[in-house]
Amino acid sequence: MSRPTVTESPSILTARWVLPVSAEPIQNGYVAVGNGKIKTVGRLADLPAGHAYPPPEEDTLLTPGLVNCHTHLEQSFAEPIGKLEGEPFTEWLCKVVQTLKASSSAGEKTARCQAGAQELLETGATCVNDIASGKESLLTLDAQGLRGVVSLEVFHPGNEPVRIEHWLAAYRDLQEGYTDHARLRIGLSPHSAYNVSPAAWRAIVEACKPALMHSHLAEFEDETRYLQGKASCIKDLHQRILGQRFYPACHAPSPTAYLHGHQLLNARTVLAHAIHTTAADRECLQAAGVGIAHCPRSNLALHGQTLRACDWQDFDIPMGLGTDGRLSTSDLDLRAEARCAMQQHGWSAAQALKAMTLDGARVMGMAEAIGSLTPGKWADLVLWKAQPFASSPESALLSASTQAQQVLIAGQNRYKRACHAGC
Ligand SMILES: [Zn+2]
Repeated sequence: MSRPTVTESPSILTARWVLPVSAEPIQNGYVAVGNGKIKTVGRLADLPAGHAYPPPEEDTLLTPGLVNCHTHLEQSFAEPIGKLEGEPFTEWLCKVVQTLKASSSAGEKTARCQAGAQELLETGATCVNDIASGKESLLTLDAQGLRGVVSLEVFHPGNEPVRIEHWLAAYRDLQEGYTDHARLRIGLSPHSAYNVSPAAWRAIVEACKPALMHSHLAEFEDETRYLQGKASCIKDLHQRILGQRFYPACHAPSPTAYLHGHQLLNARTVLAHAIHTTAADRECLQAAGVGIAHCPRSNLALHGQTLRACDWQDFDIPMGLGTDGRLSTSDLDLRAEARCAMQQHGWSAAQALKAMTLDGARVMGMAEAIGSLTPGKWADLVLWKAQPFASSPESALLSASTQAQQVLIAGQNRYKRACHAGC
């Protein structure tokens, strides 16, 4: 095996365990960084002589940055809105709308986005797929050096023609200054099949040409009933929030079938939740090339159930993890989301790590650039400190007591945990 050549005197990070995700864990390993990218990855013993590097600290782990596939940073309030026993999901949605309306100034939204972005960094996330009503989260992510996509949220449940100039102006406002940004891209978020008519969905996407579409799919049973033309709480939801009742453009057996039937799904689409799908739905989703943002904690809190991972394992559909917003989930810690998925689905820690990194990058169409410690990808890295462990390094990573010590994005330090006495 030839020894790696490390050029340009890149900085070198070392750890007791390096977890590339795309390859087996490396004990006493290093990652060499140059020009914001990963140059080489390997064993310290194989580094050419003469290279200075920090000796690896005990119980440290080095991984790719985590990818949070579904957030609403504008919802980063101190506490979630709890859903009462037996309360319809639509009631909870009304409370969310009221809460957001009551605190909707740019300053208030910015403060919440800053709190959310800081929490992402502190918990090892370097890339986020966010949904926003304005520019606050984009500007915050830019200032904090995070990577990701911010999608403009769209509501238009009626079948009357959409005011395309209104949405295009809002989209262009979001996009201004970010058409060719190294870390941040702009997307569009038609909220869901029950909140955006197919004609409006298509017209706005065609006008805006977003990098990504980010929507909510099959989150609760009334969504299916509404689209099937049956009685549901959704007409009341529209009445209370928009002062009017609406009807679906046509009837379809499922939200997936409805969107697929209107040719609104493609390889640039990320769908959150996807709790209620049939095998035929999953065939459609696979054929369309969509990615799934799996949010088990939010799903369990709001609906008492989540998707069954075993239903999806035979499909080639990328599935990453998302925390959802802090009005539905108490924190934005993706490892807490992964622990929930491990408990729900029997995933191994290695599967959970892949879901948090490379699979998330696939969902966002970014697997060529991030998601694993692979030479040529962006140096989005997290150095973790675990308690002394005898388990696998992946299990140590997922332990609740393990903490992010240092976070780099494109090779730049973006977070360093304050050092306590004795360290
Ligand atoms: Zn959401």
